[in-house]
Amino acid sequence: MATRKFFVGGNWKMNGNKAEINGIIDFLSKGPLDPNVEVVVGVPAIYLDYSRSKLPRSIGVAAQNCYKVAKGAFTGENSSAMILDVGADWVILGHSERRNVFGENDELIGEKVRHALESGLSVIACIGETLDEREGGRTEEVVFRQTAAISKAIGQGSWEKVVLAYEPVWAIGTGKTASPEQAQEVHDQLRKWLAKEVSSDVSQKTRILYGGSVTAGNCKELAKKEDIDGFLVGGASLKPEFVNIINAKQ
Ligand code: PEP
Repeated sequence: MATRKFFVGGNWKMNGNKAEINGIIDFLSKGPLDPNVEVVVGVPAIYLDYSRSKLPRSIGVAAQNCYKVAKGAFTGENSSAMILDVGADWVILGHSERRNVFGENDELIGEKVRHALESGLSVIACIGETLDEREGGRTEEVVFRQTAAISKAIGQGSWEKVVLAYEPVWAIGTGKTASPEQAQEVHDQLRKWLAKEVSSDVSQKTRILYGGSVTAGNCKELAKKEDIDGFLVGGASLKPEFVNIINAKQ
């Protein structure tokens, strides 16, 4: 069985200023962080350069979004090339806030994923069902559809530069975490979907993160599940407890 390096991403969302970012950089620099864990923080675009220049090199930096083409008349957007130019090498795409607040659909997210990968970025690709969809018994249908749009866009390209983040929308920023069993069940189904629709190699090697109200208090139980390969963390990534989440496997 392939070994998948545990991955913990932080998503600062639209939070922070230089003073607050200095505080986060301080607790991340002091750690200590489990050296067996890949850590990436998702930073507001305007602070990418600043954060990259101050964070330890062992911590990756991600943008939280980018557009689907290299440059042009797209006021307010940032391109993959710009993200790479300031030294960041990851981007979060398809976050539920992009889908639900900004109306991004599967097709656009697929196009963004394709362009980001072609440009040389690595991608944290987010998927997840709403509460209505879960209560309507549609969780698998929704996450398979979202993953299929991403898979179609990647084509024969580089799955090794993609981390999948399963983030049930009802668990994001709500304090309601999926139970380890609920998360494991969806991760297991996603891995089986990847084996069937992409390849058994991609299924075994792709890291599938859980996101949704992960805290220092619940991370260890979640991390014990065999198909949970890490976390995408919103609110708690702004606080010193993020270090405990990174060290969840210890
Ligand atoms: C997120 O923004 O991806 C997220 C999971 O947020 P939170 O941890 O605050 O629920």
